Amino acid sequence: MAWLRAALEGRMAVWWHPKRLSLRKALPPGEALALPVGLWGGVIVIVVCVAAAWWSHHFIFDNRTLQHDAEVRRVARAMAAASSRFIADQNPGGLEAVTRSVSSAFDLQRAVVVLGDGVVFVDTDAPLSTLDPQVAETRSLPRADVPPTDTRNGNWVTLPIELDKGPCAYLHVLTNPTGSVASTGSNFSGIGLIALAAMASLWLAYRDLRSRMRPLGLIHDSLDAMAGGESPSDAHRVNETLGRDAQSWNRLLDTVLNRQRAAVLESSAVLPAAVAGDSRLSAACDNLAQGLLLIDDALRLAYANGAAMGMLGLDRRASLPAPLTQLVKDEQITSAAAGVLRERSRAGTVLELDRICDNQPLVIRVSIRYTQGDYLTGVVILIEDLTQQRRADRSRNAFIAQATHELRTPLTNMRLYLETALDEGTNDAKLRGECLNVVNQECRRLEAMVGDMLSVSEMEAGSLKLHVDDIRLDALFETLQHDFKAHAKDSGLLLAFDLPPKMPVIQGDREKLTQALHNLIGNALKYTNAGGSVTVHLEATASQLNVEVRDTGIGIAPHDQEKIFEKFYRAGDERVTKKTGSGLGLALARDVARLHGGDITLNSELNKGSTFTLTLPIRVEGV
Ligand code: ADP
Repeated sequence: MAWLRAALEGRMAVWWHPKRLSLRKALPPGEALALPVGLWGGVIVIVVCVAAAWWSHHFIFDNRTLQHDAEVRRVARAMAAASSRFIADQNPGGLEAVTRSVSSAFDLQRAVVVLGDGVVFVDTDAPLSTLDPQVAETRSLPRADVPPTDTRNGNWVTLPIELDKGPCAYLHVLTNPTGSVASTGSNFSGIGLIALAAMASLWLAYRDLRSRMRPLGLIHDSLDAMAGGESPSDAHRVNETLGRDAQSWNRLLDTVLNRQRAAVLESSAVLPAAVAGDSRLSAACDNLAQGLLLIDDALRLAYANGAAMGMLGLDRRASLPAPLTQLVKDEQITSAAAGVLRERSRAGTVLELDRICDNQPLVIRVSIRYTQGDYLTGVVILIEDLTQQRRADRSRNAFIAQATHELRTPLTNMRLYLETALDEGTNDAKLRGECLNVVNQECRRLEAMVGDMLSVSEMEAGSLKLHVDDIRLDALFETLQHDFKAHAKDSGLLLAFDLPPKMPVIQGDREKLTQALHNLIGNALKYTNAGGSVTVHLEATASQLNVEVRDTGIGIAPHDQEKIFEKFYRAGDERVTKKTGSGLGLALARDVARLHGGDITLNSELNKGSTFTLTLPIRVEGV
């Protein structure tokens, strides 16, 4: 059972060796804990259902056969008792009528009454010659040899009919074996239904378990990554909306990160002396992404690395040490540093400030601590650039606000059209049809929007997955043309599709590729002014597919060209910011292309236009 325990603990690697690493990587983040439980639950349900089916087959089937047999014999005995009177009265017609109605009422295939001398008195079906040979034999048995009670030969049940005079007569009844089998069949379908219900409940329980274990799974992944050599960082934070475990983990991580920061500050206290004599150390400090300032106990700046100089706009030629207030013009920083020095505060203080640096907005976190050591007694300041993080936060919030707003529009439309269909559509079939058509379109719009949001959250969680199938490119491009035709016309743009007459069928995720192309064409139309044009050009070689989306729009500045593929990034250009957008479309499109083994590249010139090229290998391996 050790392997079972290991699997349940999420250490599937033990079980799945040698492909363990690739399997772990294949699992979505946070899934390693819940998946084994789900798998084992599924196995247990299957085993229980198979065992139940086996038990039914062996016990219920036998029971039903016995019950059926007992019932047939009971009915046959009653028929035999009734037959004696009809034989005595020489009334075969009356007996036949009774036998037929009893046979059909109790699902008997056939009933035959044979007199002792071999004469067939009544046969509900065929002449005597077609009787079972064993029945014919029974017919000729002398009275003394006839069994005193009923006997069974295969599906035939034979009973003696007691007569007052003359030789004995016999009743042969052919039973219907399908009754018991059919009921066992329904029994099996019952077990099938129970199995389905069990699987459905298991699936619901698994989903619940999965969402409960998700924070633990993500924490587990982070711990694994740290055990594998990654040092703790903000990237290991877990989304706090996942619950208390996630919040506690983030608090713990914050404590660790703060300690780390403090340790950096502490250790860098040796720098002024060391830096002076070691140019390699000075170069290393200059290459730090964080800014570092060392201030002595006379509030003089003793050392500043390159990043700090850039972020605070310090004069690089100033000779150090020099009074802090003379060099650093930021009053909040200088007075906080003076306060920390005065109070000798080891806990220090942290400021978050908005600044303009090289005409660009900058958000910085400034951690200030007092230190006392052999090399420096004074204050250490560490400055981190939070601009990108804040921008992503703002875009994320804007996206959520916009998404909520966007969801409301189709819902309101659906409600209005449904109300019209209900109020006025009863008598007007045409109006009702139109209303339902609009509701249908709005449903599709809603579906696409929710799809985008789900993909974005999958992308955020790093679990974007492909559902690979054959894609007929002609059908895909037809849908795209249909989707954008009216939009382009309304915006006064020329939209052209330059497609080859024959398009290959490729392997990929139809929905996600459509979404990626939707984003590229949608952007081209969005960022091109009226009168411009957008061309979609498709080219397929034996091994590769290129889709070019070319526009004559506003173009993209060189410094934005790589950044626009980052999540939530939007160019600062006013012509972009006044349009609604989330900054997610291109990131999603590139992720989709890369998951297919392809990529998206960009060629653009500001104010002239842009060309986005999506390349896909036609035979995608390993997808
Ligand atoms: P959104 O369009 O919602 O802002 P995207 O991720 O689709 O987000 O695009 C990111 C950014 O890339 C846009 O904000 C815009 O600055 C730039 N961009 C994308 N496509 C084009 C284009 N065809 N022409 C000019 N700029 C574009």
